[in-house]
Amino acid sequence: MSEQTRREIGRAESTGRGEPGRTRLDSYVDRYAARTNGMTASEIRALFSVASRPEVVSLAGGMPNISGLPLDVVGQAIHDLVQTNGATAMQYGSGQGDPTLREQICDVMRLEGIEAHPDDVVVTVGSQQAVDLVTRIFCDPGDVVICEAPSYVGALGVFRAYECDVVHCEMDSEGLVPSALRDAIATVQAQGRRIKFLYTIPNYHNPAGVTLSAERRTEILEICREADVLVLEDNPYGLLGFDGDPIPALRADEADGVIYLGSFSKTFAPGFRVGWVLAPHAVREKLVLAQESATLCPPAFSQMAVSSYLTHHDWLGQIKQFREMYRERRDAMIGALDDLMPAAARWNVPAGGFYVWLTLPDGLDAKAMLPRAVTARVAYVPGTAFFADGFGAQSMRLSFCYPTAERIREGVRRLTGVIEEELEL
Ligand code: PMP
Repeated sequence: MSEQTRREIGRAESTGRGEPGRTRLDSYVDRYAARTNGMTASEIRALFSVASRPEVVSLAGGMPNISGLPLDVVGQAIHDLVQTNGATAMQYGSGQGDPTLREQICDVMRLEGIEAHPDDVVVTVGSQQAVDLVTRIFCDPGDVVICEAPSYVGALGVFRAYECDVVHCEMDSEGLVPSALRDAIATVQAQGRRIKFLYTIPNYHNPAGVTLSAERRTEILEICREADVLVLEDNPYGLLGFDGDPIPALRADEADGVIYLGSFSKTFAPGFRVGWVLAPHAVREKLVLAQESATLCPPAFSQMAVSSYLTHHDWLGQIKQFREMYRERRDAMIGALDDLMPAAARWNVPAGGFYVWLTLPDGLDAKAMLPRAVTARVAYVPGTAFFADGFGAQSMRLSFCYPTAERIREGVRRLTGVIEEELEL
């Protein structure tokens, strides 16, 4: 391993999860608020510099592949926007978000069976900010948030920053396990602690790749209704299923108990940073106050650019193209894993989205193995990044969204070589 790789991974580890974001070199150390202890670089961010070198096949990042976007059409939409509505687009706007865009967001959500009013939508700076605002209005330090095991690293970062206690709940090939959820709720409530919400990604899960089955959707909603636990449904990949029509959202069946998060990052482009929250009316009012204190208003220019794209472009046709591209890449990854991986490794076949969750043969540790994988010029995210409690060492997230099919196969070949060497050690 080169000295530079060793140093970069060393830096990644020293800024990784679980350590306070403070060093002895930081002369401001005594001034920070206690909550900054929970603000640490995610393992994914720390990996970025290593994984983005051209010689490394990165199966680590979750960047959408927007190479298929018609940039001329987007450019024309932005040009027209500046010509016709530039003064509004460059001005402050409503804290709740652009009214035309909120109507269009309701049209997007209708594809997943959601009937909503634009008044109940708050536009956010990506759905990442939506997770932040919801946590900000609901969670005091020590409040419990129930999350799937594993869960989205960016949401875990928010929950940590607000000093929440994350309780993980088991998943299997059909998604969150209802009996595990029931047990987790009972255990936390018996301890006299308050559960503020269940954070769940029902479709094409990041990082687990699984989708919650239809029967379980009803059951999960019933459990949460009975126990009076709110559901925070995070659904950025819902329109990126590879087979058939979009799956009805949890929010389609339950309006009062579900707060729904959506995003244009994967169905259009993440650079505009436009996402949204759909919430019961009273919660929506609090979210707007939180949004105003955080940003005054979400960026008018971005919102109007997205709105113009939706108005003038065949966005559904574009999503279909994205789906086909990602399906091809999923097939490339699964094909390569089937052909090359040792029998003792296990993985799932996602029906949409960007990710495969791979569990290594017994005795192997994905985090310990990472420096050797990077030396072999392949990167992934170790499973521990997706747990608040140190679990996940035997697993890893592999992304198929960004590299080409050939690169994916080459990456899996390199990864297999590393795993085989580990097994021989
Ligand atoms: N939730 C999940 C499950 C995600 O995977 C992501 C992005 N990777 C986000 C939220 C945040 O996306 P954005 O802020 O770009 O909408």
